[in-house]
Amino acid sequence: MNYKDPFLRPRLFCPGPTPIPRVVNDVTADAQIYHRTGDFYNIVLRCRKLLAPFMGTKQEPAILTASGSGAMEAAIVNLTAAKDKVLVVNGGKFGERWQQLCQAYECDTKVLSVPYGESPSVNDLLAFVDKHRNAKALFLQANETSTGVFFPLGEIIPALRKKFAGLIVVDAISALCAHEIKMDEWGIDAVVSGSQKGFGLPPGLAFISMSQRAWNNLSTRGRYYFDLRIEEKNQKEGKTAWTPAITLVQQLAAALEALHGFGIERVFEHHEVLARAARAGAAAIGLELFPKANFSHALTAIKVPKGVDGSQLIKTLQKDYQVTFAGGQGDELKGKIVRFAHLGFIDSLDFIGGMAVLEFGLHACGYKFELGDGVKAAMQVISGLDNKIRS
Ligand SMILES: *Cc1c(COP(=O)(O)O)cnc(C)c1O
Repeated sequence: MNYKDPFLRPRLFCPGPTPIPRVVNDVTADAQIYHRTGDFYNIVLRCRKLLAPFMGTKQEPAILTASGSGAMEAAIVNLTAAKDKVLVVNGGKFGERWQQLCQAYECDTKVLSVPYGESPSVNDLLAFVDKHRNAKALFLQANETSTGVFFPLGEIIPALRKKFAGLIVVDAISALCAHEIKMDEWGIDAVVSGSQKGFGLPPGLAFISMSQRAWNNLSTRGRYYFDLRIEEKNQKEGKTAWTPAITLVQQLAAALEALHGFGIERVFEHHEVLARAARAGAAAIGLELFPKANFSHALTAIKVPKGVDGSQLIKTLQKDYQVTFAGGQGDELKGKIVRFAHLGFIDSLDFIGGMAVLEFGLHACGYKFELGDGVKAAMQVISGLDNKIRS
């Protein structure tokens, strides 16, 4: 016998995978489609065209069959050679991933460590690149998913661009859809992303767009699966170098059409409002946020209050409500924060449910507060009642 509560259904409030919307689920898995056909090439071409505006570029991205980290790896193998000096900003688990990838590919890797929960300052970054002027490339995140911080790239990148001649590569895997990224205008050389975050697909696709500067500075390293020269040559015609995750590409087209139909500006606005609602909700029940500034619009990292075991809270939410929130990653944050993601296809009602279940969980874990205060504050933000107190 399965004694699971039949009235509950699983819900995701973790920063990837995110809930899959109907428009994506409704794409019929047509097993009879072959990827070497004009029909499929047209789907690839449409995806490339519709993805580029989310990255703020005219450079159409390569679509790779891999998780997001595959696109990070593609950036490194195509843009760096062993022994090249490269710079990494490490402000969390994903900054650490850039560092590990660069080291795995035997780059001379210099790291700017940023305290968890903070963004690198423009001055620190300028001093960092000044110290390493001959570096081939700089790698950083847009949204550091482990800490809930969005690095203010609109400020950072143009300032860096004036002082740094190397390539600037941005991991925007959890940022796309939640934040506007202006790759061309700010001067980014490569933007990478993936399917299971803002775009509401299952995991399995990764994207990378590169500037003309990046294409002019390809590395001499040997490479095979992630050889972007081959992808670019082929994908210009809608062809992929290898067998792609065909159904995911079909689903991607559906998601992108839905997002563009709604309007890309409104997609950003939607995420901004939910992020503001999450912060207001947390504050209303006496919770502190983990970052002090530069709040992500993709997820809100909330400190677990004194007396509550964060790991227990996440477990309770999963076990009693079948709801998935993410906890803190790594020794520094484990058990100390809860990450409430509002990325991708999460509507206001799902979001209010997320806020409510977080309250249920905190209540069950013994935290004292007025049940419903967080939901109320979040509803006020979503309904626009709080317009005058915008943070
Ligand atoms: C999710 C994520 C990744 C990639 O993770 P995969 O599991 O490889 O898809 C990389 N960077 C950031 C900032 C992310 O949020």
